[in-house]
Amino acid sequence: MTHTPPGTLYVVATPIGNLDDLSSRAARLLGEVTRVAAEDTRHSARLLTHLGLNKPMLSLHEHNEARRVDTLDSYLAAGEDIALISDAGTPLISDPGFVLVRELRARNRHIVPIPGPCALITALSGAGLPTDRFVFAGFLPAKPGARRQALDAWKTREETLVFYESPHRIVHTLEALNEQMAGRDVVLARELTKTFETFLHGTPASLLEQLVADPNQARGEFVVMVAGAPPVEQSEHQTISADALLTTLLAEGIGVKQAASIAAGIFGGRKQTWYARLQTMKSEH
Ligand code: SAM
Repeated sequence: MTHTPPGTLYVVATPIGNLDDLSSRAARLLGEVTRVAAEDTRHSARLLTHLGLNKPMLSLHEHNEARRVDTLDSYLAAGEDIALISDAGTPLISDPGFVLVRELRARNRHIVPIPGPCALITALSGAGLPTDRFVFAGFLPAKPGARRQALDAWKTREETLVFYESPHRIVHTLEALNEQMAGRDVVLARELTKTFETFLHGTPASLLEQLVADPNQARGEFVVMVAGAPPVEQSEHQTISADALLTTLLAEGIGVKQAASIAAGIFGGRKQTWYARLQTMKSEH
């Protein structure tokens, strides 16, 4: 057990669906603190009631977080222990709390995270996609153009891409994935730890089909995971092989137009691009 001085802010992870997932340490601390700062006090009051607790609560959400810093700091300075919780899962992870923690750290307040449920980690641990490296993108932008741009930026990353998605955008997001990352392995983790927990696995196109065939699969909360792009080594290897092939084709007297067509057939990409590359190679010899 670490020693915690009075006047500590505990950042407490709470369940993402199944109340049994609240750790005994989290439950004990929620019982011990003098106040609870919560994203939505009415929502979190239900959790406290479930634990048989009735605590002074104050709201801390994206619109008042900066203003709450001084108030919470004064409670901590008076020696009160406070718990910060969000509606579900780990605070600060696509949830409020970052500004508070940053400001309190700057003031040398004591801050202790109490680990527990987190949708992205839960999803990754059950998906079967590589987890040695992953990128968490939070929520993608809501507007189609911005969402497309965001996916474009992630397209070439080799890490597993993880993001949160709401039920009313899941189909649009799969459509965007189908446009920009067609053929990739995608896992949709839905309603984690709840009665209708489901893991759906497929390409963006096959998942779209599944969701259209069974609209119930588009309901609830989602974590979307997309397998990373093939490793760079492979494309480097392909580049070397492509050069070798192009050189051979030219050496064999195959015309640039036909060689471009062969290269595009084997490696993909636009014939014009291969044509330009072949022209350059030819002019260099
Ligand atoms: N702080 C939370 C955490 O630690 O995971 C995340 C909060 S974020 C505002 C809410 C999003 O997390 C949802 O829109 C959904 O994408 C994801 N999420 C939360 N609970 C989930 C669950 N039980 N199953 C699947 N996704 C969930």
